Amino acid sequence: MDKIEDIEEQERFGVSEFYQFNWKQRLDFDACTECGRCTEVCPAVKVGAPLDPRAIVKQLKDRLHNPSDKPLVGEIVDKDALWSCTTCGACAQACPVRIDLPTAIVDMRRHLALEEGDFPSGMANALQNTQTVGNPWGMDPADRLDWAKDLDLPIAQEGKHVDYLYWVGCSASYDRRAQKIARAMVKILRAANVSFAVMQEERCHGDFARRAGEEYTFQLAAMENIENLSKYSFKHIVAHCPHCFNTLKNEYPQFEGGQFSVVSHTKLIQELIEGARLKLDAQVSEKVVFHDPCYMARYNDSVGTPRKIMDHIKGLKRVEPIERGKTAMCCGAGGGQMWMESNTKRINFVRLNDLRRSASTVAVGCPHCLTMFESAMNEDKVLQGMDIVELSELVARAIEEKKEA
Ligand code: SF4
Ligand code: SF4
Repeated sequence: MDKIEDIEEQERFGVSEFYQFNWKQRLDFDACTECGRCTEVCPAVKVGAPLDPRAIVKQLKDRLHNPSDKPLVGEIVDKDALWSCTTCGACAQACPVRIDLPTAIVDMRRHLALEEGDFPSGMANALQNTQTVGNPWGMDPADRLDWAKDLDLPIAQEGKHVDYLYWVGCSASYDRRAQKIARAMVKILRAANVSFAVMQEERCHGDFARRAGEEYTFQLAAMENIENLSKYSFKHIVAHCPHCFNTLKNEYPQFEGGQFSVVSHTKLIQELIEGARLKLDAQVSEKVVFHDPCYMARYNDSVGTPRKIMDHIKGLKRVEPIERGKTAMCCGAGGGQMWMESNTKRINFVRLNDLRRSASTVAVGCPHCLTMFESAMNEDKVLQGMDIVELSELVARAIEEKKEA
């Protein structure tokens, strides 16, 4: 996503008038063949949310050819449609002429967020919490490392070098279920004798704020995190959350001092296994289907790595869902949807039902997918009894079972 440069000095934000789209975007809208592939794959469409990607692109194309005084956001393009997008990227992936609709949607959200202060319910609170206490839940920053009270965790110290700075993320820091991912990661790192530390000053990196159009909150978060990260000496940052990974790896380099070497937990785990530093000898006799996170498979081209890890676990039978890899359906959490009262809430039910057809144990590679699926499971009798696990937990299970044996 483009950075808004010198944000403090700007008077206009995002796109509220057609001419504010750049020439490439206007050319893209004109190139639309109206084939409807974007609409076919859009998860919001599948749950009846008021969003139709083809309709939006057609509205923009029509506006290009028929100049009009009608307000762009609110009249030509419906606001609810803009807030229903999860930014999953499926439409852009499916489009034969590569029209980048998610970016155009966020451009229009920027106008709503920064010029109008117009958010769906829930979002304003999450943004305010992020600005004041550094996490969308509004939890006390002093409690951020409480999940590891009994783990004697290495904390980053100035002047002390480690190989990996483990970026835990807000979800695994505060959410009781997601904390198990962080604990599994610590077990894995220790089992492989990896030199690592966590950062006491870590705070939300701002991905959801940026995708909700609130670039100002995102930039404040980015600058604070970069300043804190820069105090410590490490070779790489490792993150288990695809949103943390994507933001730190692909978006923080837009800021001075924000160029870090960032690896995903799956990449590191694969390297540890294949470098014989992590041994997974124990049997985990389960049939498991993997759900690809949008921000790894589509945005970061990572499809094979989680599967390779699963194939290293003895006894584990990996099966595939119908929609997988770069064409997998979103869980419904991205683009700030986790924090909005919106019409896309049923996406998690639809996706988990799809996965259930392949196996009752679902491995995910993202704490937000985990939350979305567990919430669907708890509310829908048909889905109850399924086992939703993060990949690191599966790996830790194998290590644990070996120790017990
Ligand atoms: S997939 Fe692309 S070309 Fe086809 S309707 Fe959607 S935006 Fe237009
Ligand atoms: S990014 Fe995903 S949710 Fe948004 S319009 Fe495209 S397919 Fe639909």
